[in-house]
Amino acid sequence: MRFDAGLTGNGVASTIVPSNEDGTKMELRLDSPTSITLGITEACPMRCRHCYADCAAEPKSSELGMPAWIDLVEDLAGQGVVQLYIEGGEPLAKPGILDLIRSASARMMTMLRTHGCGLDRGMAAALRDAGLGRALVDLMGGNAATHDAQTGVAGSFAQSGAAVRHLVAHGIPTDVLVILTRHTAPELQSILDLAAALGAARVGVLRLYPLGRAKRLWSELALPLADQMAALAALRVPQGLTLMQSWHPKDRNCCWQGAAINASGRAIGCMYLREYVDFGDATKTPYNDIWRTDPLYRDLRGGRVDAACMASGGGGDGSKGGCRSTAYAWTGSWTAPDPFDVELNKGTDLARLPPRLLGA
Ligand code: SF4
Ligand code: SF4
Repeated sequence: MRFDAGLTGNGVASTIVPSNEDGTKMELRLDSPTSITLGITEACPMRCRHCYADCAAEPKSSELGMPAWIDLVEDLAGQGVVQLYIEGGEPLAKPGILDLIRSASARMMTMLRTHGCGLDRGMAAALRDAGLGRALVDLMGGNAATHDAQTGVAGSFAQSGAAVRHLVAHGIPTDVLVILTRHTAPELQSILDLAAALGAARVGVLRLYPLGRAKRLWSELALPLADQMAALAALRVPQGLTLMQSWHPKDRNCCWQGAAINASGRAIGCMYLREYVDFGDATKTPYNDIWRTDPLYRDLRGGRVDAACMASGGGGDGSKGGCRSTAYAWTGSWTAPDPFDVELNKGTDLARLPPRLLGA
């Protein structure tokens, strides 16, 4: 057996794809999750046009406090989780975040996704000392005018770039993430060049999901699939930088390993399923029990799909239908093909959302 690392559809964590020696993909079933994403807050000082969490400046009253998160992470470590991915909202805006990272990193590989604003030398040093294993910083443009127009906050581009520099200088492996939209497509090359100049290890180009504000502004933000693929194909990857993306042929269904908890402590499998599922209260029921017993969760991890692209993944079992979130968004079916896969798209216009999704 061998393992290939790649970018999941969610783009936030490397997926491990087991394969046989001849390159064909293995069937793998997990009795419990090994990696989990925590969306620890839906508060954020930015006002990004696409924000999936529909963030506000203040946290919702239902959000778990930091002591509850620390207890939950302790439980998860005891249940066998070895990798933690912390996102938001803006996790650095959550009081006590360093305590959480310190506690988690003693037991797990701990990663943090941030917009980086306010992440100065002192915070970079504190994150290093707390044991942070990897940072991922979002950029939405290659210069101040384009980035700040997307975040809605003047000066955010300069701060995000400085954050990458500080993180790298403090020895924390750091990636840059960018969500591909109509606004960022012309910016991708300059973002790659900037990321390389700042010392980032990798750039992850992520697809746009119809969630939160992105759903409401879809016609402004979304590109047809052909334009998305053209934007990716035009990229020249600077020396020393690794480019990650989750389109064809890497657009695999990674629900089989997906685990996530939202800001209120609800088990949701993946942050990209946040508007579609609720598997239960992870503060009251061990996540492993939810994993093993929730019928829809079990079904999604089973990989049952109506059609799979045989090229995706480079092996014989193909894409497993691609991402379940976008498949469900466009069709209302959990087993439908993912329209972001070029072989499964079949003429679906990704620049338009189905009226059902818009509540029409
Ligand atoms: S930085 Fe992230 S969490 Fe904050 S508003 Fe933008 S997309 Fe939302
Ligand atoms: S919904 Fe499933 S397939 Fe899509 S990114 Fe999340 S875990 Fe992966």
